[in-house]
Amino acid sequence: MKKNIQTFLLLCALLLAHLSVLAQATISEQRLRRDVTYLASDKLKGRGTATPEEQKAARYIAKQFKKAGLKPMGENGTWYHTFTFRKSNDPHGIETADAPMLTSRNVVGFLDNGAANTIIIGAHYDHLGLGHDRNSLDANPQGKIHNGADDNASGTAGVLALARYFAKNGVRERNNFLFICFSAEELGLIGSKRYTERPTIDLSKAHFMLNMDMIGRLNDERRLVVGGVGTAPDFVPVLQSLPKGNLSIKTDSSGVGPSDHTSFYLKNIPVLFLFTGQHADYHKPTDDVDKVNFSGQKAVLDFAVQLIEALDQKPKLAFQPTRSNTEDTPRFRVTLGIMPDYTFEGDGVHVDGVTEGKPAARAGLQRGDRIIALGDMEVHTVREYMQALSKFQKGDTTTVRFVRGNETLVREVTF
Ligand SMILES: [Zn+2]
Repeated sequence: MKKNIQTFLLLCALLLAHLSVLAQATISEQRLRRDVTYLASDKLKGRGTATPEEQKAARYIAKQFKKAGLKPMGENGTWYHTFTFRKSNDPHGIETADAPMLTSRNVVGFLDNGAANTIIIGAHYDHLGLGHDRNSLDANPQGKIHNGADDNASGTAGVLALARYFAKNGVRERNNFLFICFSAEELGLIGSKRYTERPTIDLSKAHFMLNMDMIGRLNDERRLVVGGVGTAPDFVPVLQSLPKGNLSIKTDSSGVGPSDHTSFYLKNIPVLFLFTGQHADYHKPTDDVDKVNFSGQKAVLDFAVQLIEALDQKPKLAFQPTRSNTEDTPRFRVTLGIMPDYTFEGDGVHVDGVTEGKPAARAGLQRGDRIIALGDMEVHTVREYMQALSKFQKGDTTTVRFVRGNETLVREVTF
């Protein structure tokens, strides 16, 4: 009898151990909610670069990496990869010589599978803090907490979720994993740029880099943008082979985009970028946790797991350059003050937000308008819009042609 009880207890223990491994190896919606809620709480004051609250967020991330069982892979055996930079006083530039020197940090953890190559998974964790850096779209941002729940507490929670998943799934993948949360992204991708200049692993051994920036607003159309698919020949066929569930995947080939994967692409590393799209709260104090779609975020991460697992099976990916960088990043001397909807698939540029006090607002443009021409340049895509915009100088006056409802309107704008 006693022996039977012992056997029974042993079986129970084994079963529980097995169940707990399985339980940890799923993306937990509840856990996503907990991480985003903390990172986007007023306590962290918008995670402004080089603030005490940014350091608090960094410590939280390091603690989660440690709990997941990762190895510190910052500098000198720490979780942190620190860097200095000068904060620009110029609203367009990144660094100016007269600006004060600031110190900031990326948080880096490693899952060592004893493999030759490494998959890099990243997201930026900084945001706009109290709105002092001129990158807020609020009319009067100074002193308001910009919680950045979608941008980019959501991506940061995504990195933590994938770290837990791959560390606890009981499978030894064919690659190692480097998990990295960047700072100073909002000031011009500075953290990721510094990491690629001074990496803590051999970047020639990178299989690919996956970046997540704003993955918390999957909407009713369930559209997930997957960027960078042109940067390795294997990406498109692998994506095509995966079941999409009820996600509607929209791909973009370019390795250059408005987030940290760009820094890795510029080092000839294949990159992928996950993004659930623009919204009216982008870079405003209203980007709050109550607007995050956590079940949608879980769906995005479940898809990311499948994608990573499929790519893990491939031999080291070949890098493929996409469109030229000069073409992708025109230099702007002027701004219209609108937020384009990057996920819009129709003709023209769909306006997702208008900044008060800027030329578009002064000309009477509104959210929902669709811009179809600037001056005599027709605008069919966001790229064409940016190329058209790069032709103007401060003080120039031109016309903007746009569609509102059934009407086509023309207004004069002065930059
Ligand atoms: Zn962002």
